[in-house]
Amino acid sequence: MTNEFDAVVIGSGINSLVAGAMLSKRGWRVAVLERNERAGGAIATRTDLFPGYTVELLSSWHPLFVGGPAYAELASDLTRLGVEYLNTEDPTGVICAAGSAILSTDISRNTAQFGALGDLAAWNAVMSDFGGRADLAFGLLGTDFWRASAAKFGWKAWRKLGKRGLLASGAELLEPAAPWVDRTFESPVTKALLAPWALHNGLGPDDAASAFITKVIAAAISMGGMPIPLGGGVKLVEALCTLIAEAGGELVTNAEAVRIEVTGGKARSVRTASGVVYHARKAILASVTPQALYLHLLDRINVPSQFSAAASSFRYGRAGMQIHLAMSEPPKWTTPGMGKVALVHVLDSMDSLSESVNAANRGFLPRRPTIVVGQPAAIDPSRAPVGAGLLWIQLQEVPREIRGDLAGEIDHTGGWTTDVRDRYADRVIEQLKQHISNIDSHVIGTKVLGPADLAELDVNLVGGDPYAGDCRVDQYALWRPLNLANGHKTGVGSLWHIGASTHPGPGLGGGSGYLVAKRLLD
Ligand SMILES: Cc1cc2nc3c(=O)[nH]c(=O)nc-3n(C[C@H](O)[C@H](O)[C@H](O)COP(=O)(O)OP(=O)(O)OC[C@H]3O[C@@H](n4cnc5c(N)ncnc54)[C@H](O)[C@@H]3O)c2cc1C
Repeated sequence: MTNEFDAVVIGSGINSLVAGAMLSKRGWRVAVLERNERAGGAIATRTDLFPGYTVELLSSWHPLFVGGPAYAELASDLTRLGVEYLNTEDPTGVICAAGSAILSTDISRNTAQFGALGDLAAWNAVMSDFGGRADLAFGLLGTDFWRASAAKFGWKAWRKLGKRGLLASGAELLEPAAPWVDRTFESPVTKALLAPWALHNGLGPDDAASAFITKVIAAAISMGGMPIPLGGGVKLVEALCTLIAEAGGELVTNAEAVRIEVTGGKARSVRTASGVVYHARKAILASVTPQALYLHLLDRINVPSQFSAAASSFRYGRAGMQIHLAMSEPPKWTTPGMGKVALVHVLDSMDSLSESVNAANRGFLPRRPTIVVGQPAAIDPSRAPVGAGLLWIQLQEVPREIRGDLAGEIDHTGGWTTDVRDRYADRVIEQLKQHISNIDSHVIGTKVLGPADLAELDVNLVGGDPYAGDCRVDQYALWRPLNLANGHKTGVGSLWHIGASTHPGPGLGGGSGYLVAKRLLD
């Protein structure tokens, strides 16, 4: 059986669907091949876990998408197809040993909050300094470095900052978050409010560039909040698939791509595990890991040797874990106001943050984890039955392979067994009980996902790395996915590499799908 399309896209994560939708809107007929039985990749909305609850098994928060160029391009179609974003004035908060705080989208509330912490002048200075260069910061993260527009961007930065300013900005760009928050803010609460956000880009507070990422995220959420789609991420997935279908394209699930066929230096077709061949007239886009692309999907004979060598050395980062708690009433936080915050970080201090990231990097389970507590039902009440509560808990300081337990309590000798996973989840929930008083009495359903579960749900999350590749600076921006600085080009004609393993990295922005679609359409 054969099928002919303008473009064949491997994988159905947000980057694939954004690219597919953009190409479809310009009349391309697109086939999206997905090995799982559902589309969406790390957007995995489930209504069958706890009756009456809509659970985002994996990703949940859409500020990157709503604030990004893909949404700007597709918003009117998505609205037509029923995608509705809900938002909040309370995107994030922190509870730490030194106190608590909430970052709001309301400037007057932030003035009061940072004033009470003794950090108002520092916060205002950071925001106004960053605000003056926000176009450069956001531009840097969204630029296709390998197009003429990158040179324009460089020229704009040069004109705005001058030679010395540009060099100084380079150093500032590389600063880790820990020294930056220490130098800038007085209160340990302010530091603990901001620094954990680097985790959401795969970094730790001692990693190069984590201060820059922290500033970008702080600015983005204090301006844009924490949008989520009414009814769950599945609504976005369905609408993007409809856009592809409206142009005659197809989403094919249970279709694992096993070979990209190349003739005359050009990628021509994709073969699935069941032997079906999808021909591509114009382009093939592969949203897979570098190893999958260069070492498995392509025949070695078609891969330039420097590409396969670079792909072999692509590294994965720490693993992640998710814990979902269905509650028969909303969580009762011991700290007033936290019940309506979208995403609360619960941690001891900067010290525990640094310790836990370091522990996970070295293969140890942290003893004082940073607990990311998401409350989707606080923004979208349709996610839980009336009067009930739902917690989306995320852990980002998790070793991919276990060498020990920093607390010396969990026997890890068998590796990541379900027992180790569940005992570590128990540690997290025990710590959370100090801040949410009705966990024991009102949790009616629990679902724990460890690193192996993440990798099983989405094969690109190698070893449970939620970001499909270590995001430290040697594998970021210019050097993502490969240190060859080849961008989305693959060394094979008509074949493009997209997805979280490629620039601009992980997250629900759909950035790589957008950039490659732009290239193909411009
Ligand atoms: C637990 C978790 C929580 C997160 N939370 C957030 C959040 O709240 N906000 C945010 O912005 N980001 C979040 N992220 C990050 C974000 O979700 C991901 O970076 C993003 O969704 C990745 O999209 P992608 O386009 O790279 O593809 P993915 O979503 O990774 O999907 C890739 C798809 O390709 C398929 N595939 C792979 N190989 C093949 C093949 N050979 N043939 C066919 N199909 C194949 C896979 O089955 C998968 O469905 C989270 C990630 C995780 C794991």
